[in-house]
Parts: sequence; structure tokens; C-alpha cells
Amino acid sequence: MTKFIDKVGSPELDWIQVEVTSHCNAACIYCPQPLLGEKQHMPLSLFKQLFPYLGYTCLVYLQGWGEPLLNRDLFAMIKMCKAKGKRVGFTTNGMLLDEETVRRLVDLDLDILSVSLAGTSRSTHNRIRKGTDLAKIITNLDRLRQIKAQKRALRPALHLAYLMLSTNFHELPEVTGLAKRLGAEQIVCSNLALIPQEVLGPEALFNRRDKQHRFVSVLEEIAGDARRENLLFNYSSPVLQERSERCSENICYSCVVSVKGEVSPCVFTSPTLSQTAGINCDKAMNRIFQNRQVPLYPLSFGNIGTENLTRIWNKKEYLQFKRFHDPETKKGDMDTFPRPRSCVNCYKYFKV
Ligand code: SF4
Repeated sequence: MTKFIDKVGSPELDWIQVEVTSHCNAACIYCPQPLLGEKQHMPLSLFKQLFPYLGYTCLVYLQGWGEPLLNRDLFAMIKMCKAKGKRVGFTTNGMLLDEETVRRLVDLDLDILSVSLAGTSRSTHNRIRKGTDLAKIITNLDRLRQIKAQKRALRPALHLAYLMLSTNFHELPEVTGLAKRLGAEQIVCSNLALIPQEVLGPEALFNRRDKQHRFVSVLEEIAGDARRENLLFNYSSPVLQERSERCSENICYSCVVSVKGEVSPCVFTSPTLSQTAGINCDKAMNRIFQNRQVPLYPLSFGNIGTENLTRIWNKKEYLQFKRFHDPETKKGDMDTFPRPRSCVNCYKYFKV
């Protein structure tokens, strides 16, 4: 009977995002990492609790508020997911991609390796992504390209994840050339959606209203360059519009599992961002939203260490949360739901 209920109510997910560690070896200026409480790696035993549910998803993305390569069990985790026939990827700062690591990732047939950038010049990137070095990252990615060629491997597909800020936007036009040189398949440009300190407010493109037309036309030009080079180019709009009716993230077809096993709808509600040990607590980390300091409410609908993911997915509170963000929900019906407090002060709830 339990198995039957699990089967009929099981989630159909595009991806499960799993935070394999909350430790990091870098100190990017925009990251809330220094504000996090106790850091830890996800134990393999906890990761294994996800096994029965991998059938519900196509992609397992091993990423959270830390550097995945710091967890020594990362390779075992990738191997387990691949053995289940899943696509697997993660985002890294690129500093730990030494030869042995790259060979192991290629041999494991990792699908996506996304590398974070915040500039195409060493001075800009290194200033923003403190503790990392663009020259070393490029050397590591050149090595990835060579090893893939030696092994005649097509994977992992290299993605470049560029965080667009007002002090690195001028270097963005160089990113297609860099991507081509490194053999990347895709460039993903995102906005600073979580502003942990007031001083970073001007870095968010959507806060630079005077320059928005320019940002848009530059991005359109780069998209054209990328097309001509056969590169996929995805970007978030740098223009902040009026409040949307729902979140721009894929809330109804994905979930995030924190390093402690807590299941949340997105990384911004992950309890990892809470300085306290409590869940759904009122004491939370702050974020800057429209020049105001507002709380960032952690939200967990259950823990995979003690509960079944299907049951967590079908909890009344989680269903209500998803219904609120579901494009299928009619406007009139939405007005009957309380607006989730975690979302009202989130830039993903705007049209960016
Ligand atoms: S709007 Fe809500 S669900 Fe969407 S990213 Fe923000 S906090 Fe998460």
C-alpha cells in the first residue's frame, strides 16, 4: 500500500539539486558564505537516502552554497547517480580541477561541468571571486579540453556561469571568445538575485536604471555572436519589472536538498542560509531588497534523512506553496492563498 501511494503521488521532476557541501575555498564578495553557520559536507549515508527517488528526475545537480569538489565523496555520488542512468552536473569555482580530478570526472562520464566566472580579465575576476584565480582556472579548463580530446570524450559539457555585475559587465563581450577557446558549449549569465549586504546593491544590474538600455543591447549583441559561434547563450534580463504573479524558478518541477537533508523549493529558502539551527524559524539571515534589509526565511518541508520524498512533496503546505507558483493556477484562485513570506521580498518574484 505504501509503495502504491508513493508511486501515484511521486514527483515528476526536471532536476533535484543536492547541496553536497556548505564549505568553500573561495570568498566571493557577493556570496553569503561568511554569514553561514556551521559548515559541513553531506555524508554519503545521507546522500544514499535519495536513491529510491532518483527515478523521479532526469538530472541530479550536485550544488548548493559551497564548492562541491571539497566533498571527497563527490566522485562516489556521481558514480551512484550515473549507475542509475541519471544526468549529473555541478558548478565549481574551477580551482580544484587538477589533472587527476579532471581525469576522474571524464572517466565518470559527468554530463555538465559549470565553471563560475565574474570577469574575463584576471584583475576583475580575481577581485570579485576572491580566493580564485582566473589564470589558474583557464589552465585547468585547457587541461580539461586536452584530456577530453585524448580520451575522445564528449563529456562533461563545459558551461561558463557568468555572474553579471555592474563592475564586470564591460568584460562580458569577451566571454564568447573565451568560451570558444575553452571548448565550452554554453554560457549562462545571471543577475545578483541575493544581495547579502547594502554595499553590494549598486552591483545588481537591475539597480542601475540609467544603464539598462545599454545592458540590454549589449546582451542582444553577445547573443548574436554566440549564435554565430554555435554557443548556447542564456541570460537573465537586467531589467527589473513589476512584481510577477509567480516565481521565475522551476518550483513545480524541481526541489533542493540541503547539506543536512532538508527539502526546500529553492536555494534562497534553503535552511543552509539560516544562521540558526532551527527550521521555519523567525530568526534568519537578512538580505537587501529594494534598499531595505529584510529577513531571508528558511523553509523546509521535510528531511530526507527521516522522511520519504514523495510524502514531503505531497505535504499540504508544500502543495500550497507549489500551487501559488504554478503557472496553471488561475489568478482568482491564487488570491485565496497566503503569499509565501519567503517570496515577497525575493527578486525571483519579479520579472527579471
Ligand atoms: S520567489 Fe520564493 S520560491 Fe522563488 S526563488 Fe524566491 S524565495 Fe524561492
